[in-house]
Amino acid sequence: MKIKAINGFKDILPDEVAIWQQIETTARDIFRRFGMREIRLPILEKTELFARSIGEATDIVEKEMYTFVDKGITLRPEATASLLRAFIEHGLHVKQPVQRLFTIGPMFRHERPQKGRLRQFHQIDTEIIGAMEPQIDAELMAMGQLLLTELGLTVSLEVNSLGCPKCRPDFRTHLVHYLNERMDGLCEDCKRRTITNPLRVLDCKKRDCKALVQDAPSILDSLCTDCDLHFAAVQKQLELLGVTYKLNRFMVRGLDYYTRTTFEFLTTDLGAQSSVAAGGRYDGLIEQLGGPKNLPGIGFAMGIERLALLMQQKENIAVAVQADIFIAALGDTAIAYSGPLIHQLRKLGLQAAMDYSNRSLKAQMKQAGRTGARFTLIIGEQELEQHEGILRNMQNKKQEPFSLQGTVEQQGNQLNDLITSE
Ligand code: ATP
Ligand code: MG
Repeated sequence: MKIKAINGFKDILPDEVAIWQQIETTARDIFRRFGMREIRLPILEKTELFARSIGEATDIVEKEMYTFVDKGITLRPEATASLLRAFIEHGLHVKQPVQRLFTIGPMFRHERPQKGRLRQFHQIDTEIIGAMEPQIDAELMAMGQLLLTELGLTVSLEVNSLGCPKCRPDFRTHLVHYLNERMDGLCEDCKRRTITNPLRVLDCKKRDCKALVQDAPSILDSLCTDCDLHFAAVQKQLELLGVTYKLNRFMVRGLDYYTRTTFEFLTTDLGAQSSVAAGGRYDGLIEQLGGPKNLPGIGFAMGIERLALLMQQKENIAVAVQADIFIAALGDTAIAYSGPLIHQLRKLGLQAAMDYSNRSLKAQMKQAGRTGARFTLIIGEQELEQHEGILRNMQNKKQEPFSLQGTVEQQGNQLNDLITSE
């Protein structure tokens, strides 16, 4: 019986990896410009870390985590909790009060797999810890937008504020009151959420719930003065930076730790999956996890699978591997001769390919074409005797003799010069 991969766990095949690398390279380049440093984290953490940060009554912790119950450990469903755990454990703030960090890697959530929704998926996660100014919020959103733009993607940005522990409880009371009066119209999940996590009702995807909350009180009307000023300044800064956004007072996000600014980059090109990246502020979380007091933070996570899908749909990327040179060696002596030469070319940094199976010239030329080689060097018994191979420019089909005199280093250098000067 053939063994297949687990449902929701996907192989990323070489053709796709080219896109992934493009995404990661672009992200790293953007992060360099914004002074963000990479941190690499384990994928297993104590279950308690996620329960305490993401929140017991969230979908992720309630039903989506891969937990080894007997060992009390969980495959991370997101990166922020792990990153803050590491930040606190190593006292990173002592050296540098404001830390700009990013990490890239797999996350695990047990949800129903579909297009753009997997059980092992990958995120690019960025966090700025130790700064509370509204400009930081705007800067992070502008960075996310720049990254998406440089990847050639157009997405929209929605922004909300969730207030703080000072103003949210009041809002929560108003909202629960509103929901209690309309309990019959809510879905089963939202009936439960009204008690466990009422804000989540606001972003329920079900049509009836959506209609029902249209007239619910708005969190933006309940913000305390500080939160209100902060949010106004964030919006002003976004405008100054030329970042287009839309207010969405229903955006709640599925993690309990958010305070104040929350945001989401959305697309209409991925069917049911609209969220490309999402994030927000978490000003109380570090203290809640046993870290220093009054250390604010903000971050976002971007899903690489969704980015890759969007980029594939655009078909704007050349992903083919392209060899610099293919050596078509005909006959055993030529094959033996070509081995050291191809190794020399690789040492010099060229992408060089050859085939050892002594196939016909026609077959080897076909293979050279498949590798996308820019040049092919043909070496047969006769060429060896005359110390002169044939170098074919695969683009303009011109052929010229190539001298096989001298050492393999000399021949390698000559080929390298010829190819790199083209
Ligand atoms: P969704 O609303 O699609 O479930 P989410 O609110 O759970 O997304 P976050 O937890 O904020 O998403 O994660 C940030 C990003 O990670 C998302 O915008 C998305 O691009 C990606 N992501 C989240 N869950 C998955 C998944 N199961 N498969 C693929 N990508 C995912
Ligand atoms: Mg989700």
